[in-house]
Amino acid sequence: MTMQNVGRPTRPEGSADAAGFQSLTGGRALLQDEALLFELDGWDKTGVDLPACELDASDLGDLVRDDLKLPGLSEPEAVRHYVRLSQKNHAIDLALYPLGSCTMKHNPRLNEKMARLPGFADLHPLQPVSTTQGALALMDRLAHWLKTLTGMPAVALSPKAGAHGELCGLLCIKAAHEAAGQGDRRTVLVPTSAHGTNPATAAFVGYSVTEIAQTTDGRVDLADLEAKLGPHVAAIMVTNPNTCGLFERDILEISRLTHAAGAYFYCDGANFNAIVGKVRPGDLGVDAMHINLHKTFSTPHGGGGPGAGPVVLSEALAPFAPAPWIVSGVAGFDLVEQDAGFGRLCAFHGQMGMFVRALAYMLSHGSDGLRQVAEDAVLNANYVKARLSDVMTPAFPDGPCMHEALFDDAWLEGTSVTTLDFAKAMIDEGFHPMTMYFPLVVHGAMLIEPTETESKQELDRFCEALRALAAAAKAGDAERFKGAPHLAPMRRLDETLAARKPKLVWREEPTTVAPAPLAAE
Ligand SMILES: *Cc1c(COP(=O)(O)O)cnc(C)c1O
Repeated sequence: MTMQNVGRPTRPEGSADAAGFQSLTGGRALLQDEALLFELDGWDKTGVDLPACELDASDLGDLVRDDLKLPGLSEPEAVRHYVRLSQKNHAIDLALYPLGSCTMKHNPRLNEKMARLPGFADLHPLQPVSTTQGALALMDRLAHWLKTLTGMPAVALSPKAGAHGELCGLLCIKAAHEAAGQGDRRTVLVPTSAHGTNPATAAFVGYSVTEIAQTTDGRVDLADLEAKLGPHVAAIMVTNPNTCGLFERDILEISRLTHAAGAYFYCDGANFNAIVGKVRPGDLGVDAMHINLHKTFSTPHGGGGPGAGPVVLSEALAPFAPAPWIVSGVAGFDLVEQDAGFGRLCAFHGQMGMFVRALAYMLSHGSDGLRQVAEDAVLNANYVKARLSDVMTPAFPDGPCMHEALFDDAWLEGTSVTTLDFAKAMIDEGFHPMTMYFPLVVHGAMLIEPTETESKQELDRFCEALRALAAAAKAGDAERFKGAPHLAPMRRLDETLAARKPKLVWREEPTTVAPAPLAAE
């Protein structure tokens, strides 16, 4: 398998499908083969007719760009290009998207409608607050719901993703320690099963990271935690429910031990969808927790749009929250912009479109509906776990899981099929693979998160597909797996090369008229 020199994956070898049929043009049924935008024939034309510009652009001096180096496609050409590309990929609107930890749930169209209201969508962040009262009221209401649902007294809305929220929380913790003369606390404790962003964030803030061991039943090892806590520890970062899909039963003891050692308890709240309306993190002694609005409260994410990672803060950390925050007085709402703890996380106030979608999701569910979100997410995951446990091996067979079902690859032993092969074969059956090889503590991990938005019928279709594949693997049909996906527009990608050496810039080769790809950037 080779990458083409523009970082593109390879096409199906020979382009022949399972029946050996090959189209003459590379098209597949009604889906045409699609070149890169730069390879489309748009270099010698413009797609729109504009009158010649008579203004002198010299006001801009050196800032004038003479050539944008974009092909001059017409509107239908450009629209078709992107629609064709979108057809080559998976989407939550096509089918179940069982990526564990990512919480890919249906995005209600009502949320989209609300986010597109001109009063929200067309605001400029520098408008005077007297003209943005409705938007500030929405942010204030969202903050109220987040504080109520988590039982926490303060929230910073501006972080733009879960990882950005982690950064916000750790910067608050660092500022609080420094204010208390405890700036020499340089270590953050993170369980082995943690999402990669946790240790990465701690390292980014300048902390050294020490791993906390895990028990055989997938929880934080309390004895190991206690042994590693001390006056050098600034914080622990624990995910609850954790990335094994399990509730940390000893969470109260974890928080007691942490506070007794003078450290803060950062909770990774990306899995809040499993407990929303049922458990308030504030009651568990959490000091800071980000909430992935784009997971728990819907909104398209991943390839589909941006995220938002507001951070709820305890009484102890609230004074160190970043600017801005909203206050209300007789004259209406206002934004407090001056520096507080460590300044600001970003220009302006955060992801307005995400705020609108999240509040729409909350209001359309109501408090009882949000509780049912958690209940149904957990029920669906346990249904998947129960339906697959006789053919695949659950990593933690004892007891129920929370919102995601975790399997290891013990059941594939002797088949020569790997977790990766199995996941790729799911694509041929019309399902997006589950999360693979994460968490790292489970060998060949397969983490399935169905979310609350899937019906029993859809879960049954999914489970039947996995059962059929499992039977094929055990029957020795290794060919089906080794070459998978056979039917996708692209076969296996060299993901490591693509991640390590992404080709982000298209360069025109000086000697040729038509642009040609150059070597790696
Ligand atoms: C998704 C996720 C994150 C990171 O959130 P982003 O919005 O992708 O930055 C962190 N921790 C866990 C457990 C997650 O699932």
